[in-house]
Amino acid sequence: MIDQRTQKVLERYRVESGKGFRLKDFDAGDTAGLGIEKDHAARLLQQGVDRLAELQDMLYAQDRWSVLCIFQAMDAAGKDGAIKHVFSGVNPQGCQVHSFKAPNAMELDHDFLWRHSTALPERGRIGIHNRSWYEEVLVVRVHPEYLAGQKLPPALVGKSVWDERLEDIAAYERYLARQGTVVLKFFLNVSKAEQKKRFLARIDEPEKNWKFSAGDVTERGHWDAYMAAYQDAIRGTAGKHAPWYVVPADAKWFTRLVVVAAIVQALEGLGLHYPKVTKAQKAALEGARKALG
Ligand code: ATP
Ligand code: MG
Repeated sequence: MIDQRTQKVLERYRVESGKGFRLKDFDAGDTAGLGIEKDHAARLLQQGVDRLAELQDMLYAQDRWSVLCIFQAMDAAGKDGAIKHVFSGVNPQGCQVHSFKAPNAMELDHDFLWRHSTALPERGRIGIHNRSWYEEVLVVRVHPEYLAGQKLPPALVGKSVWDERLEDIAAYERYLARQGTVVLKFFLNVSKAEQKKRFLARIDEPEKNWKFSAGDVTERGHWDAYMAAYQDAIRGTAGKHAPWYVVPADAKWFTRLVVVAAIVQALEGLGLHYPKVTKAQKAALEGARKALG
């Protein structure tokens, strides 16, 4: 169960209305005054992971709601680690993970939501999207040449193209919410200084070399443009039915605690329960017991 203190912590990072939202009001290094030891953090995380597993079991059994968790961040902010740890306890049958890379030729032949919508979670399941349709107003906005590759009719690509995309994303998320999908969006907010440290660790430590990509350093050069795009994206799409969480990401243990708590809180709010057995079903169960001898 999410206690009051955790609720307060979550409120700090949850954005349900884009009005007046400013990224600079959010500190990447914040840990909500929780200067805790490593093993204590691990125990807290385990509690969250266990609770998430219980809730997921009911979500699956009930087969009504679905949950879409979107993860967005700059490189090395900890998306992969957060996903790995937060969902470590859930039944793999009940969740579906998708990582979205640059779109391929077939995907570019469709509208931008197409490839994401085919990856949405079924009822009863948790969908984890490592990057998402938000890339369409982030990387594509920072690199307009990607937009040029999308084969849109030129008459439809005007100055307001980014606002229009944000409007379409917001409308689509509202639609999903009305269809029974709980939409949760996480922006892992890492600082530029911490990103540099993590890149250097990827260069220095042989077992991390595989994570390093020179292209990530190029993207770092566009930091301010990315931050401006993130701010606009959050402003344009934050809603009660599809909140953003601007999660401090300079301390990995804290990021993971916030993410798991936010998902647990959302699931607890659904009033999940195992399907009720009807009288007829009960009678059938008793009949089956007898038949077993
Ligand atoms: P990640 O960087 O998410 O940890 P990765 O390093 O395994 O994953 P990459 O090959 O870097 O995988 O793929 C992700 C890249 O794809 C990112 O740079 C992202 O900006 C880009 N990308 C995702 N969606 C789009 C899109 N719609 N248009 C252009 N580029 C995109
Ligand atoms: Mg990458």
